[in-house]
Formats: sequence, structure tokens, C-alpha cells
Amino acid sequence: MKRYTFTSDVAVIGGGASGMFAALTAAKSGSRPSVTVYEAGERVGAKLSVTGNGRCNISNAGVSPERYHGSRRFAAAALELFSVQDAVRELGKYGVLITEEKDGKLFPYSLQASSVTDCLRFSCAEAGIALECDCAVRGIKAGKNGFVLTTERGEAFAKRVIMSTGSVAGVAASEETVYSPAVTLGHRLTRLLPSVVKVKTAAKELKALNGIKVNATVSAVKGGRLLRKESGEVLFTEYGLSGPPVLQLSRLVSSGECDCMLLDLMPEFSLEETEKILLSRGADFRDRPLSELLSGMLNKRVGQTVLKLAGYSPENKRAALIRAAGLIKALPVKVTGVTGMRSAQVCAGGIETADFNPLTMESRLVKGFYVTGEALNVDGDCGGFNLQWAWTSGYLAGKAAAEDIG
Ligand SMILES: Cc1cc2nc3c(=O)[nH]c(=O)nc-3n(C[C@H](O)[C@H](O)[C@H](O)COP(=O)(O)OP(=O)(O)OC[C@H]3O[C@@H](n4cnc5c(N)ncnc54)[C@H](O)[C@@H]3O)c2cc1C
Repeated sequence: MKRYTFTSDVAVIGGGASGMFAALTAAKSGSRPSVTVYEAGERVGAKLSVTGNGRCNISNAGVSPERYHGSRRFAAAALELFSVQDAVRELGKYGVLITEEKDGKLFPYSLQASSVTDCLRFSCAEAGIALECDCAVRGIKAGKNGFVLTTERGEAFAKRVIMSTGSVAGVAASEETVYSPAVTLGHRLTRLLPSVVKVKTAAKELKALNGIKVNATVSAVKGGRLLRKESGEVLFTEYGLSGPPVLQLSRLVSSGECDCMLLDLMPEFSLEETEKILLSRGADFRDRPLSELLSGMLNKRVGQTVLKLAGYSPENKRAALIRAAGLIKALPVKVTGVTGMRSAQVCAGGIETADFNPLTMESRLVKGFYVTGEALNVDGDCGGFNLQWAWTSGYLAGKAAAEDIG
């Protein structure tokens, strides 16, 4: 009989959020199989440790199918089986106490993403799971009794394999490293696009606003047709726009569906009200320099830019103020693309889900092979939805793999 460097009942490829969760679930289910996690990086949970600006937006009370893209029906079926409440309960078992903020976002009570990684890492050690770091899986073969993995540190044998390799978003890893285990076994890879990513614009006149943050409602449009609206803090940058509402809409830019964003800089006011406010300021503050006319109401530089775009001059004051009100309510920003996969938080696209069972994450093509998390063609909105997907898919795969072994 051939000797392998590593042998276990269950092999998990990738020690990220969904991989560690799958490993823990497997180790505690069924006949308590032996589990090894093979991680390419020098430590597990590297991405998890930087999520949510270091705070880890761990899930969201508002999880619903509409918040997921790619294979929405696949995600919906899985989320029915393992919900936000289930994730809160299971993470609690590993030491993560969770708190909900007013907007429904869930965070660890510690507000430290690294502490979530630590809880999962320690729980793995406590459950006897072997964490093999600096051990990328480069090849896989399916045999009669299990799988042989070619890792950077030797060959490994496992009866069941869970592929939790994440995606190419926000990391330096190649497409081949991340997706090849599934692709080698005959699974299809869909088109990959950056999502939850900064947006580039062609608006030269907005470059002067670099670094300014405003509260706005952002509408993603194409040919004047509204696609989706999001509100929150928008950041003007040297290359374009960022901030939560822009990141949320960026998938539409990536896919070419959106060619323009309309910024409503005073969402609480109607167009008529905004016009009225501007006309009365024009009359009340007629002696103020133009650069100050909108100060106190809008960010000074934003106000100046709006008046400039409206063609304001003392001679055409009224018409220009009416145009400025229109711009305040719908400042058009032509978008030209996104900043790219390396700067994206999430990857839209992945392994085709039609070849997988959404209740177990098991392949329909290769028995005993499972895929979880972002590696699959499921991506969520910004706000905790992607980590919830990692918990849901990781749990279902871990449980099914362990129970399958008996
Ligand atoms: C900056 C940033 C902030 C984010 N913030 C949030 C947030 O607050 N809330 C939220 O819901 N989502 C957030 N996300 C998205 C979230 O982090 C991911 O969706 C989630 O981590 C995906 O989990 P995963 O297990 O699929 O992949 P990952 O957590 O990426 O883990 C995959 C692991 O597999 C390893 N690997 C890859 N290929 C191989 C191989 N061939 N062999 C061995 N190992 C391999 C990788 O090194 C990695 O450790 C953020 C993402 C980024 C980049």
C-alpha cells in the first residue's frame, strides 16, 4: 500500500472562513472523522482577519435571496437550511460572541476580525484538526476509495475533499491556484468579475473633490434607466468614487450593466424644495462671494463644483441656480470601469453551481467532492452577506462530508 505524507478522512483545501467552518463542522459531525486543512498561505484566515475594515462584518440580519447574485436560487436553497441564527449559534460555540448594529449588520462583540480567526483557529486545534500551512494543493485525482492531492509538501490522501479556496478577489493568487481542484475534476468555471470594488469615472471636474465624503443616494443607471439605488457615505477619489453605496453598486459597473451614476446630494429634499432653498440663498446672500453661496449647506468644494457645472454667473443667476438644484438632486457621473480584481472585496462568478447539490455542496459529477464559499458562483452584497455565505456553505459541506463517511 502506498504511503502518503498526509492522510485523513476529510481534506479541506483552503483555511479561510468557509474552510475552517467546514473543517470544524465535519470534525464534530457523523463518526467524528479526522480532518486536515491544507492552506497555501503561511497562516489560516488571512482574508477573514482584514474583513470589515478590521472589524469583521460577520453576517447581516437582513439576509435574503435578493442579496445574492450569480446562482441566487442555489444560495437561497442553502440559506434556508443554515440561516443567520444558525451561524450565530455555531460561531458562539467557537467563542465568537456576536452583536447586531442598528442597520442589521452583525459584528463580533470584540469588533476585531482577527479575533474571529483566532477563535476558529483555536477551535480547530481543540477539535484535533491538523492545519497544514504553506501547503498549497496543486493537483487532485479522484480514485475508487478517495482522493489523492498533490500538495507543496507531499502527497495527501483523503476519503472526502472540501474545496474552500475562496476567489481571486483581493489576493495575489492566480486563477489556477484557486479553481484548479474543481476544474481538474471536470467542473466549469464561469466568467469572473470584480465586485464590491471602487469605481472609476471620466468626470475630470470632480477630481478637485478628491478626499471629500458626502452623504448621498446613488442611482446606477444605463441609458437613463434606473437599475438600483443605494444610500450612504460616498467618497470622491482621484480615480472616481468609493464608499459603501458605490461599492454596493460596483457589480453593475463591472458587468457593463451601468454606465452612469447619479448622485443625489440632498436626498431628504425634493427637487422643488432644493430649488426653493437655492433661489432664496441667491436672494438673501447676494453679496457673498460665489464660492461661499452654498457653504453651510453643502461641502464648500462640492458647492463650488456644482455652481461651476451649472454655469453660475451674476448675470444668469436664477437659471443657473435652478440648474444647480437639478445637479444637486442628480449629479451625473459617467463611470468607465472598476479598479480591478486585486482591489475588489468579492469576486462575482466562480465554479458553476448547476453541478452541485445546494443542500450539501456536493458535486453531482464527482462523489465525495464538495465546494464552499466564494469559490462557487455565488456572491453577496457588501454588508456581511459574503461571510454568511461562507458559514452556510461551509457548514452544509462539513456536515454532509462527515455523515457520508458514516
Ligand atoms: C478587504 C476585504 C474585506 C472584506 N470584508 C467583508 C466583510 O466585512 N463581510 C463580509 O461578509 N465579507 C467581507 N469580505 C469578503 C469575505 O472575506 C469573503 O467572501 C470570504 O472570506 C470568503 O470565504 P472563503 O472561505 O470562500 O475564502 P477565503 O476566506 O478567501 O479563504 C480561502 C483560502 O484558501 C486558500 N487557498 C486558495 N487556493 C489554495 C490552494 N490551491 N491550496 C491551499 N489553499 C488555497 C487561500 O490562501 C485562503 O486562505 C471582504 C473581503 C476583502 C478582500
